This record gives sequence, C-alpha cells and structure tokens, in this order.
Amino acid sequence: MNTAPIVAAQWATRDVHGTAQVGHALLAGNGLPGRWRGRERFTILETGFGSGNNFLATLAAWRADAQRCIRLHFVSIEPTPFERSAMASIEREPALAPLAAMLVAAWPPLTCNLHRLSFEAGAVELLLAFGDVAAWLPQLSLEADAFFLEGHAPTGSPAAWAPRVFKAMGRVAATDATVAAWTAARSLQAGLLQAGFETEPVFDQKGGCESVAGHYAPRFVRRGSTRRSDPAARHPGDEPVVVVGGGLAGCAVASALAEAGLSSVVFERNAHIAQEASGNVAGLFHGVVHAEDGRHARFFRAAALAARAEVAAALGSGVPGSVEGLLRLEFGESEAAMRAVAARLGLPVDYARVVDAAEAGALAGTALHAPAWFFASGGWVDPRALCSWWLERAGTRATVRTGGSVAALRRDAGRWLLVDAGEQVLASAATVVLADGGGSLLLPDSPPWPVARVRGQLSSSPMAGWPTDHVPRMPVTGAGYVLAPIEGAIWFGATTRLDDGDAATRDGDHRANMERVRRLLSISEPMAVPDHGRTGFRWLADDRLPIVGSIPNMAAVADASGPTFDRPRLVPRLPGLYAICALGSRGIASAALGARVIASAISGGPSPIEADLLDAIDPARFVSRVVRRSAAASAGACARKDMAVNLLQAVLGPAGSAGD
Ligand SMILES: Cc1cc2nc3c(=O)[nH]c(=O)nc-3n(C[C@H](O)[C@H](O)[C@H](O)COP(=O)(O)OP(=O)(O)OC[C@H]3O[C@@H](n4cnc5c(N)ncnc54)[C@H](O)[C@@H]3O)c2cc1C
Repeated sequence: MNTAPIVAAQWATRDVHGTAQVGHALLAGNGLPGRWRGRERFTILETGFGSGNNFLATLAAWRADAQRCIRLHFVSIEPTPFERSAMASIEREPALAPLAAMLVAAWPPLTCNLHRLSFEAGAVELLLAFGDVAAWLPQLSLEADAFFLEGHAPTGSPAAWAPRVFKAMGRVAATDATVAAWTAARSLQAGLLQAGFETEPVFDQKGGCESVAGHYAPRFVRRGSTRRSDPAARHPGDEPVVVVGGGLAGCAVASALAEAGLSSVVFERNAHIAQEASGNVAGLFHGVVHAEDGRHARFFRAAALAARAEVAAALGSGVPGSVEGLLRLEFGESEAAMRAVAARLGLPVDYARVVDAAEAGALAGTALHAPAWFFASGGWVDPRALCSWWLERAGTRATVRTGGSVAALRRDAGRWLLVDAGEQVLASAATVVLADGGGSLLLPDSPPWPVARVRGQLSSSPMAGWPTDHVPRMPVTGAGYVLAPIEGAIWFGATTRLDDGDAATRDGDHRANMERVRRLLSISEPMAVPDHGRTGFRWLADDRLPIVGSIPNMAAVADASGPTFDRPRLVPRLPGLYAICALGSRGIASAALGARVIASAISGGPSPIEADLLDAIDPARFVSRVVRRSAAASAGACARKDMAVNLLQAVLGPAGSAGD
C-alpha cells in the first residue's frame, strides 16, 4: 500500500448530523438495532468518519439496547481526519458529549495506518484508517455486516464513490450485508448495483427522497473471502485456545483472546512466566521512521502505537514504565536530511518529530550531541510486569500451566495434541498458538523458517558509580540504548551476538555496552566496568519482521498443481495452528499488535492491520518467497512441486506429518 501524508481536516465547530438523523438514515437504513440483536459480533464499515458523530450515535444506540450484540466493530476510513484539538472543540448534542470526550481521549496521531480504539471494556472496537477510501478498502480484512456511506452528492466526494470503491465493498460484504447512505443520488445507486447491492430510496416524514438503503444480493459468484485462516477451522468458542509460551507473546495473546471473548490455557515450561527473553527489568518501544515508509516502518509504527495504548493502560495498574517519549539519536544523519524525511512523510508531531541536539539534551535532561527523532508515543515498560498485567486483565479467561515443557505437536482425529518428552498428552485442542520464541516446536532439529537465535546482554550500573551529569530522564537510543534510573541503577545495552548457548554474563559484553553508552551520552569521565547485567536470547527472522499468523499447510502446497502461492494470502493453512514468534529486539511492540492479529484471526473479527502488512508478517511469506524465486529460476508446476516438497521436509519432517 502506498502511504501519503495525511492532510488534517479544517476546523469544525459543530456536528453535521444529529443523533435522530443518524438513527433514521444510517441505523434504521441498515435495519439497526434489530439486526445486531442476539449476535456474538457485528461489524459496521463506514466511509468517512468526519466528526465521528455516526460512530457516537451508533455507540449510544448500542449502549441503550438491552439485546445488543456482544461485540461491535466499527471500522471507518477517513481521508482528512481532524486533529485531536479540533475534534475536542466540536460542539456535540448533550447526549453524545460524554461519549465524544472518550473518543477525544483515545484519539490517535494522524498516521497512515489502522488505529484501534477500544471502548466499553473492549466490547466496542473502533478501527480508524486515515487515508484514501479507494486505497484502504482492498486492504481491509473483515466481513462487513453493514455499510455506512458518507457524502451527500457525487460531486462532493467523487473519489469516495468511484466504481472500484463499490467493488471493494462487495468483496468484504457479509452474505446478508446491508447498506445505507445519506443521499439517494442516482450515481450512488448505480455504483452499488454494479457491485451487487440492491437499493431503494428512503423517504423522510415529509415525503422527500432523503437517503438510500439496500442489501447485498450479488447476481454473480464472488471471489473467496479476504481472510487467510482456514474458514472450515473456525475455533469453537466453548473450549480454550492453547498457547505455548508464557513470555510477552503468549501473555499478550491470552489477553487479546480474552477481550475477543475467548479463553486460553498458557503452557510455560519454566516455574514462572516471563523468565526468558521477556525477563528483562525494562525494555523500550518506539516506531521506525524510514524515508521509503515501507512495510517494516509501517508495521513497527502501528506496533509502537498499539504498545503505547497497552502500556498506558498497564501503568494505571502500577506496572513500571512510561509513555512520555523516547529519543533516538542519529549520529550519521544530518538534521536537515531528517527534517526533509519528516516533511515528506508528513509525520504528525505526536508520533515523531526531529529535534536538534540542544532540544534533545533538554528533553533528556543531559547534554546530547546529535540530532534525534523524538518519539512522543514511545516509552519503556517492565516486560515481566506487563506479562503479569496481561494475564490479570484476561482474568478467569486465562489459565497458566507452568513447569511442563511441550515436546511436540501431534495431529489426531482433527485435533492438536501437545505431548511431553515421554509422549504423555498434556492437552488436546482445536486451536493452538505457538508463542514459544522461535516456533521451534514445529521441528526441534531445525527451525521451520529462516530464523536465528541471537544472544543479547544488558548491563547495569548503580547510580552511585554513574557520572552525575549524564543521567537521562527518558530512554535514549541510537547504537545501543540507555534507560532512566530504575530503583537506583541505570540499565543499558544491548549486545547482539550469535547464540553459543552461554547464558552467563560476560565482561567483554559489559565493556562493549559501556563503550556504546559512553558514545551515546558523550561521557568522557572514567567509568567502572559494570559487573551486573542479564543475558537473554531473541529469535530473529531474516527479514527482521515478526512471524505472526496461521501456519501454512505444506502438504497441501506440495500436492497442489493448479494455484500458485506467490502471495502469502493464497497459501493453504493448517487448521487451527497459529504462531507469534521471532519478535526480535522489538518484542514489546510486536507482541502488543501481533496478539491482536492472532485474536482477530481466531475469533473472526476484523484484522487490526492492513492486508499487505498481514502478508509482511505472515508465516507463509517464506513459502511465497521460495515460490517467487523458483518461478523466476524455472517456470512450471513441476519445479514448484519439487520446491514445495523440499520445503515440506524442511518444515515438518518427511511426508508432512502435521498435515491434515
Ligand atoms: C538483551 C535483550 C534486550 C532486549 N531489549 C528489548 C527492548 O528494549 N524492547 C523490546 O521491545 N524488546 C527487547 N528485547 C526483545 C524482547 O525481549 C523479545 O522480543 C521478547 O521478549 C520475545 O518474547 P517471546 O514471548 O516471543 O519470547 P520469550 O520471552 O522467550 O517467551 C517464550 C516462552 O516460551 C516458553 N517455551 C518455549 N518453548 C516451550 C515449550 N516447548 N513448552 C513450554 N514452554 C515453552 C519459554 O520458556 C518462554 O517463557 C530484548 C531482548 C534481549 C535478549
């Protein structure tokens, strides 16, 4: 997806539509509230969020309805969103004012990605996509039960009413989807008809033709669903999902599943959760800025914003951390070049902005000697406490079973069996999520995808031995990082070395960390080599993105003769088997967002990230990569089949033993 800077809307002072109008045109036009009654979930897709009044009126109607659906997803695309201050200044009807205040409090920076805002203890989810409607619609992975179409006349919103918009709506429409719009303009009705919607004008009380309502009734067989998990393997809601691994990934998944209404059992081989990579005293989270704004930068931007929301909520329960920002120093880049990138990408300052060395020093509370990105939405958190908080938030929906290692997965009678080293069955489950670090459970001898286990060491020095002029009050990163003091000590690091199996801290690595922090903070005074720290092992995929999603069915890939699998979304999947692995050195951000991706895939809710980012983190991307490379080298199904068999053996052992 091409991203373009978001242009904020002009100042607004009052609502365009009142609750009664929204109720008449959009809610009643879609048969609401009646159609959401008795449903587990209901998804509304809107083109044009504007002042948010349609959403607020819908939320008010949902709140007031005793028979409402359990979960309401409201997905809205807005090409020119309001800044938070403009949003806050809009005059609202008294009935909507308190809801509007909640919306403003959660209002995100205007960056081009999906923003997830959660209300009513997670029962109502607002997914906001800022940018062009026609570009966004094909990127949404969901099933819409109702459409709210913004705009009053085709001349007013020509881009929002382009034929490809209506076509894309048809692709995400549930079989019984309905649609309503503010106008009954002919071109709108013609466009909807072309895309498979039958519409009729709705008259107001005075008999004037005011709006349009309709339903999806295609006279053609439409292409398959936009979802990429095996639809035949939808998780039965009445049994728990089994999660292997009680680190950041596993605990975040348990929490996200609970919010989606599903229970889970987390299997952790250690006596306590968060003892391995997730066992550090503190970790940072922040976005990535890159001039090209490619998938890597876009994923980690969305992930950092998701982490911020989680950490901000966790801080309220006493989890140590901060969401007050973070500095990333750029020693090799000029300030002018950085400002040019920021301007070209149109980065909002509440996400990231460029600061010169003097301002960076003022923010950090210690002199710094390089320009920096100030990530206002970044911060730090204690990952151990965050893991515990995620499990606490899941409440009775999450159970933890510690002290037993899962040795292997077996497929038996349509279910997954988790067995220990003695082949004793630990659990039988319809749905399993591998959150074991690297997904090595799939094949103990060699990893199922191109990942490496990388050794990392952090160092810590007591405040007493630290040069007093060089104590930062917020995290500072660059080549390495340093945190503000935590309980009388300063933590800094971290090394990145190939795994040699040695978990002991080493003097050489402490020295390397010390040299890094001296350069970062321009420390010239002598310092004692630290003698305290912690070693951990991070799993890293070769493309530096996490591995999140449904696991490919390599037996089906090998057997297929017709379709090509050059895009991950086309690759067949093993039923009910998911991974959230290889979180690398950005585990906090990747866990926060990746867990939502897993929960939406299992529960059937809208994906919290766009389709090309789903591709970017999809476990099947490695299959597609091999297909593309082998297709470039030699064409033909035969070559593809050989490749698939080789991959199959590498991934699952001879004969694809885990295939159904
Ligand atoms: C030195 C260092 C510094 C870092 N700094 C940062 C930072 O500043 N910011 C940041 O975001 N990230 C940072 N990271 C990375 C981050 O810590 C990891 O990405 C993250 O912890 C990975 O979480 P995880 O849940 O995937 O893995 P883990 O925390 O390793 O959890 C996997 C869990 O699965 C369990 N398990 C594995 N196999 C089995 C099995 N067969 N049966 C039962 N249980 C099993 C393990 O015991 C473990 O508890 C750092 C990492 C290191 C090492």
